[in-house]
Amino acid sequence: MNDTPSTQTRMTLAEVHDLATRALAANGCSAENARAVADTVTSAERDGAKSHGLFRIPGYVRSLANGKIDGQADPVVERLGACIITVDGKNGLAPRAIEAGRAPLIEAAREHGMAACAIRRTHHYAALWPETEALAEQGLVAMAFVNAPPYVAPAGGTKPFFGTNPMAFAWPRPGGGTMVWDQASSLTARGELQIMKRDGHTAPDGAGVDKDGQPTNDPAAILEGAQLPFGGYKGGAIALMVDLMCGPLLGEVSSMEAGQQDNKDGGPATGGELILAFDPARFGGDDPFGRAERLFEGMLGLDGVRLPGSRRHAARTRTPAEGVEIPTPLFDTIVGLTSG
Ligand code: NDP
Repeated sequence: MNDTPSTQTRMTLAEVHDLATRALAANGCSAENARAVADTVTSAERDGAKSHGLFRIPGYVRSLANGKIDGQADPVVERLGACIITVDGKNGLAPRAIEAGRAPLIEAAREHGMAACAIRRTHHYAALWPETEALAEQGLVAMAFVNAPPYVAPAGGTKPFFGTNPMAFAWPRPGGGTMVWDQASSLTARGELQIMKRDGHTAPDGAGVDKDGQPTNDPAAILEGAQLPFGGYKGGAIALMVDLMCGPLLGEVSSMEAGQQDNKDGGPATGGELILAFDPARFGGDDPFGRAERLFEGMLGLDGVRLPGSRRHAARTRTPAEGVEIPTPLFDTIVGLTSG
C-alpha cells in the first residue's frame, strides 16, 4: 500500500472554490457548471467530507477531457402533471441538474404536499446530503437516491452488481437547522476505500472481498474485487431499492447497465437520480416539527447518542475560519489541471 501523504496544504474555503472552478473551467466546463460543481466540492471540504471534496476533481476532469461528460450542458426542466418534475441533465454534471429542478420541486411539494424530481442523463460524483439539506432548509422533508456503476456484491454473492447506491434523508428543524443522514448502501463508500488505499490504511471487516471472493481488509484488493453491502442482506435490499428507484422507475440505467456503458475512466458514470420532497404542514398532523424536536431531545438524552449529520455540522462551524488541509500531491495535481 502507499505511504500516508506526508505533507498537507492549508487552504481557505474561498481558495478551494477558486481552485476547483479553475480546474473545471480549464477542462471544458461552462462557467455555470464549474461554479455548481465547485459549490458541491467546497461544501464537502467545509463539512470534512474529504472523499467528496477536491479529491473528486481529477475524476471530473478526466471525464470532461475524454468527452464522457458535456461540461457545457444546460439541463432542461419539465413538469409532468401536478407532482413530478423531470430534469434532462443533457449528459452533464449533476450539480446543475439538481439546482435546475429545485425551485419547481419546492413549489410542487408546497402545493400538493409531496412531489418528486426525476433527474435523467446526468453524472453524479458527490455526496447526496446537499440536495436533501437544501430542501430541508426550505421547511420540507426530503429524500434522495442515486445509483452508480457496479462495485458491490449482493448479499451472498462475491461479484460486483450494485453501485454503492447511497440514499439521504433530511428533516427541517426550527430556526433553519436540519437533521440529515446520508449513507452508501455498501459498508464503506468507494471514495473512502480509495482514500484508505492512498493513505495506507486497512479497510474495516466486512468491507469487501478480493477478486477470488475471499474476505480482505486490503482496500486495493477490495477495489479490484467487490465491496459488500452494510448489514448483509439488509443493506443489499436497500442497494436494490435504490437501483430500482433510479433505474427502472426513471427509465434510466441500472448499476449494471451504467457499468456496461461506462468508459471506465474512474470519473462519474451516467445515470439517474430521484429526489422526493414532503411538506409536513400538508399532512394534516398536529405540530410535526415540535414532535420531531421532542423525538430528537429523547434520543440525545441517551448516553453515547448523537444525531446523524452533527459531525459534518460541527466541522462547518470550524472550517470557515480555520480553512482545510489537502494532501499536497493532490493540491499539486489539481493546480496542474488548471492549465487544461
Ligand atoms: P458514513 O458511514 O460516514 O455516514 C453515514 C451517515 O451516518 C452520515 O449521515 C453520518 O453523519 C451518520 N453517522 C455516522 N456515525 C454516526 C453516529 N455515531 N451516530 C449517528 N449518526 C452517525 O457515510 P458513507 O461512507 O456511507 O457515505 C459517504 C458519502 O458517500 C455519502 O455522502 C454518500 O452520499 C456518498 N456516496 C456517493 C455516491 C455517488 O455515486 N454519488 C456513491 C456512494 C456514496 P455524519 O456525517 O455527521 O458523521
